Amino acid sequence: MIQLTIPDAEAMEDLGARLGPLLDAGDLLLLNGELGAGKTTLTRGLGAALGARGAVTSPTFVLAREHPTASGVPLVHVDAYRLATGRELDDLDLDYGHAIVVVEWGAGKLDGVSESWVSIDIERPRGAGGVEDVDVDLDADEPRLVTITGSGPRGVELEAALAANV
Ligand code: ADP
Ligand code: MG
Repeated sequence: MIQLTIPDAEAMEDLGARLGPLLDAGDLLLLNGELGAGKTTLTRGLGAALGARGAVTSPTFVLAREHPTASGVPLVHVDAYRLATGRELDDLDLDYGHAIVVVEWGAGKLDGVSESWVSIDIERPRGAGGVEDVDVDLDADEPRLVTITGSGPRGVELEAALAANV
């Protein structure tokens, strides 16, 4: 398990950028954290490092978006927020094998999809100011606590590679 404090949005993009070059076809990242945690910000940095074409934005309304990248291995960016179960995610018929797949809100919905993955949990440690707090500016820079855990053989390998790189 890797724990990092990420001070601002730029540093979150940097973290994604450090992850990007480690990833290959078939790799799966699960990004967890409340709305505004920084999941898409991290994915944007990852996409930039991969030379992904097209803007990386929250794919909330399309569920999944595929970006061609410089290496030829596409980046598939999924927002599973509206999906209740892994079954529904399965129904998207994503080809996990040929792409780097990043799933926002994927926790608990990907059972059986892959034997390996990396979970990235992003928390706003100040506690106060969840999305229900209307006085909080969600865009203002504020530290995030990031916990990275690899599962399965490839997940463990990626976690180790990243640990050497952060
Ligand atoms: P999510 O995809 O998790 O809903 P986004 O990445 O779309 O979240 O939004 C995160 C917002 O929080 C952005 O406006 C970003 O500028 C802001 N932000 C402030 N501090 C940080 C930080 N330390 N890390 C990431 N984002 C941050
Ligand atoms: Mg998002």
